[in-house]
Amino acid sequence: MAKTAVIGGGPMGLACAYQLAIDGHQVTLYEADDRLGGMSAHFDFNGLSIERYYHFICKEDHDLFALLKELNLEAKLKWHETRMGYFYAGQLYEWGNPFALLKFPKLSLLSKIRYGAHMFLSTKRKNWQALEGIDAVSWLKKAEGEKTYNVLWKKLFAQKFYNYTPNLSAPWIWARIRRVGRSRKSIFKEQMGYLEGGSETLLNALRNKLEEKGVIIHLNSAVEKVAHKEGKVQGLMLNGEFNPYDKIYSTVPLPFVTKIIDNLPEEHQKKYASINNIGCVCLIFKLKKAVTENFWLNVNDDTMEIPGIIEYSNLNKQDNHIAYIPFYMPQTHPKFNRDAQDFIDESKAYLFKINPALTEDDIIDVNVSRYGFAQPICPPNFMDDLPPIKSAIEGLYIADTSYYYPEDRSITESVGLGRKIAQL
Ligand SMILES: Cc1cc2nc3c(=O)[nH]c(=O)nc-3n(C[C@H](O)[C@H](O)[C@H](O)COP(=O)(O)OP(=O)(O)OC[C@H]3O[C@@H](n4cnc5c(N)ncnc54)[C@H](O)[C@@H]3O)c2cc1C
Repeated sequence: MAKTAVIGGGPMGLACAYQLAIDGHQVTLYEADDRLGGMSAHFDFNGLSIERYYHFICKEDHDLFALLKELNLEAKLKWHETRMGYFYAGQLYEWGNPFALLKFPKLSLLSKIRYGAHMFLSTKRKNWQALEGIDAVSWLKKAEGEKTYNVLWKKLFAQKFYNYTPNLSAPWIWARIRRVGRSRKSIFKEQMGYLEGGSETLLNALRNKLEEKGVIIHLNSAVEKVAHKEGKVQGLMLNGEFNPYDKIYSTVPLPFVTKIIDNLPEEHQKKYASINNIGCVCLIFKLKKAVTENFWLNVNDDTMEIPGIIEYSNLNKQDNHIAYIPFYMPQTHPKFNRDAQDFIDESKAYLFKINPALTEDDIIDVNVSRYGFAQPICPPNFMDDLPPIKSAIEGLYIADTSYYYPEDRSITESVGLGRKIAQL
C-alpha cells in the first residue's frame, strides 16, 4: 500500500486525507499550526470558541453539504434570513434588495436599473468562459456605467485589492457576486447559513473520522522540505528528520510551495512565486450592543479604510454581539505590520461613527488575527499558466485555493478540490 502524506490541515488537506482514507490509503497529515482548520480555524475568545476569520455558508455550497451528510452533520446546518446594509459617505442605508436599491439616493433611476439588472443576470449566468480575459473593472463599468462603478464598487475594490484592482479577472468577481446573490429565499430576502458550533463542528467531526480510519495527524509540524530524486517523490523532512512517502499532497498556499519544494521546473517555480496574495488583519469585537441590524455592512466612506463589517451575531445569535472588522491589504503594505492596538483604536472609531450610540463601555473584548495569504489575486486568464496539480515530480500533487478559479476561496470549494485531488 502506498504510504501517503498530506501537507496542510485546512479544509482542503482534511478533505483530501478523508477521501484518501476512504479509498483505503495509509495517510499521515502534517499541519504547521497548533490546531486544524487553516483559515477556518477557531480560537478561544475568552470563553467563546469562534472562527478567527468570519465564515458563512451559501446555498450553492454543494460539496460542503455532501460532506456534512456523510458526517451526519446535516442537522447542524442552519439558515437565517440576513440583512445587508451600506454605510455610504457617513450615512447608513438598507441594501441587498430591489426596494433598498430604489430608495438609495446616490444613483439615478437608470443607473439603478442597470445595476440591478446586471446583478440579477450575473446570478443567472452559467458560462463564465465568455468573460475570460476581461478585467473586472472594465466589465462592471461596461454593464453598469462609470458613475455606478465609482459610487458602488471603486472604494470597495480599493479597500480590498489595493494596487491589484485594475488587473482583477471578471469571472473571479462574477463568481463572488453569483455565490452570494444566489443565497436567497426570494429576490427580496437574503438567506445565509452557518454551522451550529461554527466551522469547528465540521473540523472536529473530520478529525474524529480521520482518526477512526487510522489517519495519523501531526500538529505543530511545519514540513521543511519535500524530498524527491530522479523525478520521484521520496518523502519529507520534518524537524531535520527524513520521513519516507510514496505520495505527497501539498495543500499549503502556493507562495509556500517554492520554500518547501526545491528543483521544480523553472517555469512552474516562477509561476508559483508570481502569484500575489492579499493579507488580512481581522478584528473581532464582543459587544454589549449591536452595531447595526445587518449581517453584512458594506462600507464606503472616505474616512474609513475598511471594505465592510460582518456582524456575525446577526447571522448566528450569540450571548453578546459579535462583529468582525477585516482590513485587507498586501503584506507589503506599511500598515500590515502595525501594532494590534493601532488597528483596535482605528476600528473603535469606525464602530462609534457607524453607530453613535455605541460607547467604550459597550466593548467587552477584542482580538486581532493576522494572515498574509488570505486570498490569491486572480488576474484575467489566471488559470492559463498555473502548473498542473499533478506536478512534474511523480507522486507529488500541489493545489491550493487558486485551483478552483474562478470560484472565490471557501470551505466548500476547498473540500471539493481536496477530495478531487485525492482521486487523481
Ligand atoms: C477573512 C476570511 C474570511 C473568509 N470567509 C469565508 C466564508 O465566509 N465562507 C467560506 O466558506 N470560506 C471563507 N473563507 C475561506 C476559507 O477559510 C478557506 O477557503 C479555507 O479555509 C481554505 O482551506 P485550505 O485548506 O484550502 O487552505 P488553508 O486554510 O490556507 O490551509 C492551509 C494549511 O496549511 C498549513 N501549512 C502551511 N505551511 C505548512 C507546512 N510547511 N507544513 C504543514 N502545514 C502547513 C497552514 O497552517 C494551514 O492550516 C474566509 C477566509 C478568510 C481569510
